[in-house]
Amino acid sequence: SKVLEIKNLHVAIDGKEILKGVDLTIRQGEVHALMGPNGSGKSTLSYALMGHPNYEITGGSATLDGVDLADLEADERAKAGLFLAFQYPTSIPGVSVANFLRHAVSNVRKPDRKEGEELIPMREFRKELRASMDELGVDPDFARRYLNEGFSGGEKKRAEVLQLAMLKPAFAILDETDSGLDIDAVRIVSEGVNRVAERQGTGVLVITHYQRILTYIKPQFVHILFGGRIVENGGPELVDLLEREGYDWVRAKYPEAA
Ligand code: ADP
Ligand code: MG
Ligand code: MG
Repeated sequence: SKVLEIKNLHVAIDGKEILKGVDLTIRQGEVHALMGPNGSGKSTLSYALMGHPNYEITGGSATLDGVDLADLEADERAKAGLFLAFQYPTSIPGVSVANFLRHAVSNVRKPDRKEGEELIPMREFRKELRASMDELGVDPDFARRYLNEGFSGGEKKRAEVLQLAMLKPAFAILDETDSGLDIDAVRIVSEGVNRVAERQGTGVLVITHYQRILTYIKPQFVHILFGGRIVENGGPELVDLLEREGYDWVRAKYPEAA
């Protein structure tokens, strides 16, 4: 079983330090939630792990089974077993969900494959796709839709979860910043996350500043990021505490971090 290890990670944007020493260890099959008020650096962490060029790692490290992520290009991170939901294009005109997934799966399964080279066999792919759709309760017609074209919030999430189920990554980082998600979308992500963690042993980091999604996902580990550092680590009781009391007590307890 693999481990994603973030150690004393410092990240700067435009020379300004945003993350000031983040420590976080995630093992396969574990579900972690990273919470924190707006501006605490949650998205900065996900962009840095994704390898976004504007996010400079100025100290510490993030390793996947001992391999430093900073040494890997975005596609190499995916091949190493890291899934980052938003590294994928939001809309590709004329590309069906099935076609997109067949390319994504081929890239990860055949690490030496070059663009334009053979994809995984259609029969094998179709069988797997059908099984995943069955398991997630996705309508078979969905695979023929054009990716993200006219998708509702719930359908975009469905495509993402289907991708998770097909790619079977060792780790998935999901930045659920969109507080505009309707209840249907929240339910789809949550069920998908719970399933991939349980069935395929994916280690999941759900990043969110609002509690609602965590009433469905039920993380085993909860971390509060504040002022660029993880200031509290706990279990689901932290979610309840934030639900009841908000973040004021965090600000009061860690005034130096604000
Ligand atoms: P969160 O996701 O927790 O709301 P972010 O990671 O988006 O927090 O932002 C953390 C801090 O970094 C904030 O103070 C924000 O203003 C700053 N920041 C985020 N993105 C940029 C950027 N592109 N350029 C400069 N500062 C940024
Ligand atoms: Mg924000
Ligand atoms: Mg954010």
